[in-house]
Amino acid sequence: MSDTIFAKIIAKKIPAKIAYEDEQYLVIHDISPQAPVHVLVIPKREIATLNDVTAADVDLIGGMFLVAAKVMKELGHADYRTVFNCGPGAQQTVFHLHLHVLAGRPFTWPPG
Ligand code: AMP
Repeated sequence: MSDTIFAKIIAKKIPAKIAYEDEQYLVIHDISPQAPVHVLVIPKREIATLNDVTAADVDLIGGMFLVAAKVMKELGHADYRTVFNCGPGAQQTVFHLHLHVLAGRPFTWPPG
């Protein structure tokens, strides 16, 4: 078992504000939100980064977007930003794949 912060949250060894959970995914509210709503869709099975995804993970990765849309609908948002940070140069800090989903404020493009 990995010792990333998300592995500990999935194992319920440390607390988090859970927005959704099922057998495959955990969705938590980000501890340092960058928008009024900022959740993280985390597959329970650990994959370090997008670079480690294989063809066998296609359903798991696709399901992350279904979960994101479901949670955003439940939270009352149709407009939102989804982000995968991949690697330190893109500001990935937790090496357990997760999808950021942000809502509740205007977003600009290009992102910073
Ligand atoms: P990233 O930088 O893309 O790897 O995203 C990691 C995210 O995890 C950051 O937005 C952090 O604020 C968030 N985070 C770190 N620790 C926790 C925690 N204990 N509970 C909730 N979110 C966390």
